[in-house]
Amino acid sequence: LGMVHVYTGDGKGKTTAALGLGMRASGHGYRVCMVQFMKGDLVYGEQNAARTIKGFEIRQFGRKEFVDRDDPAKIDREWARKGLEFARKALTSGKYDIVILDELNVALDWKLVKLEEVLGLIRDKAPKTELVITGRYAHPQVMELADYVTEMREISHPFQKGVLCAKGVDH
Ligand code: ATP
Ligand code: MG
Repeated sequence: LGMVHVYTGDGKGKTTAALGLGMRASGHGYRVCMVQFMKGDLVYGEQNAARTIKGFEIRQFGRKEFVDRDDPAKIDREWARKGLEFARKALTSGKYDIVILDELNVALDWKLVKLEEVLGLIRDKAPKTELVITGRYAHPQVMELADYVTEMREISHPFQKGVLCAKGVDH
């Protein structure tokens, strides 16, 4: 362990791929922590599921309402800062074998966090902690520091036909 993964692109499957990796790792007794940026209140199935898996922790740092890309609220920046502080502790402590920073790419692209902070996290992480960063619009400098970079590319998605969000599939 100790590699850095980036799951990005506009197709579906970034967060669920990270969850799959976490589940696989926890099956070997590894300790997993997923930090979800820009997500809050809404119950995602993975939170309920994680409670039943030993050593699989999920923390949310966001609110229910969507963040306004062009004019994020102060509260959204505060949530992101709290998430980043928590992520830093999780990554540097060596307490977790896998740390997943879900949607951090989006939080960076939308300027809720700074590039330097994200690069700093990657550099300062405990050497044996595996790090997974998900979300669209991954920054080139983040991808450059990663060992695995995977792009999910949308070929088709029911969203195009007006199907919004399926329970158990999208949340
Ligand atoms: P998932 O959480 O299902 O693995 P994701 O993490 O790849 O998806 P995000 O970019 O984080 O997807 O998108 C958040 C929400 O938008 C999810 O509910 C997801 O299912 C949905 N979504 C994913 N891809 C698309 C797409 N191409 N068009 C519309 N909605 C999408
Ligand atoms: Mg996602």
